[in-house]
Amino acid sequence: MTDNNKFTAVPDKNGFFGKYGGKFLPPQLEKPFAEIIESYNRIKSDASFITELRYIRKHFQGRPTPVFHARTLSLENGGAQIYLKREDLNHTGAHKLNHCMGEGLLAKFMGKKKLIAETGAGQHGVAVATAAAYFGLECEVHMGEVDIAKQAPNVSRMKLLGAKVIPVTHGLKTLKEAVDSAFEAYLKDYKNSIYCIGSVVGPHPFPMMVRDFQKIVGIEAREQFFDLTGELPDVVCACVGGGSNAIGIFSAFLNDPCELIGVEPLGRGEGVGENAASMTYGHEGIIHGFKCYLLQNDDGSPAPVYSCASGLDYPGVGPEHCYLKDEGRVKYVTCLDTGCSDAFFKLTRLEGIIPAIESAHAIAHALVKAREMKTGTILVNLSGRGDKDLDYVLENWGEGS
Ligand SMILES: *Cc1c(COP(=O)(O)O)cnc(C)c1O
Repeated sequence: MTDNNKFTAVPDKNGFFGKYGGKFLPPQLEKPFAEIIESYNRIKSDASFITELRYIRKHFQGRPTPVFHARTLSLENGGAQIYLKREDLNHTGAHKLNHCMGEGLLAKFMGKKKLIAETGAGQHGVAVATAAAYFGLECEVHMGEVDIAKQAPNVSRMKLLGAKVIPVTHGLKTLKEAVDSAFEAYLKDYKNSIYCIGSVVGPHPFPMMVRDFQKIVGIEAREQFFDLTGELPDVVCACVGGGSNAIGIFSAFLNDPCELIGVEPLGRGEGVGENAASMTYGHEGIIHGFKCYLLQNDDGSPAPVYSCASGLDYPGVGPEHCYLKDEGRVKYVTCLDTGCSDAFFKLTRLEGIIPAIESAHAIAHALVKAREMKTGTILVNLSGRGDKDLDYVLENWGEGS
């Protein structure tokens, strides 16, 4: 295989993964970000920080989450055997809490009083609000008015958990404006607060820090898979929005002879505004303070994106994925909404597991890949459960056949 350290030695001290990532900030934010970098680098190897994070993972989140052999699904599908890393069983129903608890604990160690975040569909907002409740911190979640109207249950959840939901009323009133608004709020109050980003995106150190907190998924899965089968998987597969669940599971296999595949949403097809496949159709650009493959307009502004999975609906993508693509270590493929809905119903009916629509993209590709392979094994990161998607599914896809 390739050089042992090449894939794991990133980012450099300026936050670059090859030419991607970095820290493109307004001057006022330089100092608060420098403080986060310094604190994180100090705290991450502190024994009491590590001990407390381990305790939280085990006793609050319910980790380790299991690896499950989807026997019936594999049999019906034909070909390779499919295994699932069950992040849907992580507390709050998705992998996002892994990094939110880490960010919350960092806030506590830094003596901050408040967590500030943005949210699109509300999944990240709920995870941050959960962390804030656990640590006794204030919480402010910025959310576009359009999304607030669409995601009522998550808005209620955040409020019940004690978070203040701030409606964002400018522009398209969705995720991008929510990020801008959260950045502004952080700028005004960085002494008391910390910004909690929702994926392996944003300015350094977030892509590194969120990855480090998500690594637990891969570390557990590698060991569990080996215990079950006596081997490593031939293929590891995950959906990619910003890329946090994917990098979490990939990170443990980067130096193994395993094929790694990231699955992006192709939505309704190839046209501009019809998908959110940044890695496939994007070009180098800057969004929210970092460089990545970006779906962009001619003037470099982020292009409109679409996916049936609101968690995958982002025009940029984590810088480490861009690096791993260019290095040829990870392959990025796409999956249409229709492939996703088919996989959603198959997993639900054949295994009794209702997946998040995001995760169903990874399942969909695994089904195709398994048939191509004929034999061998595929480990899929089942990033979340589908409870949040039930209304959408019934309204748009019906009850399945
Ligand atoms: C948010 C979300 C995603 C997408 O985020 P990544 O950072 O790409 O992992 C995927 N699955 C679920 C269940 C989510 O909630």
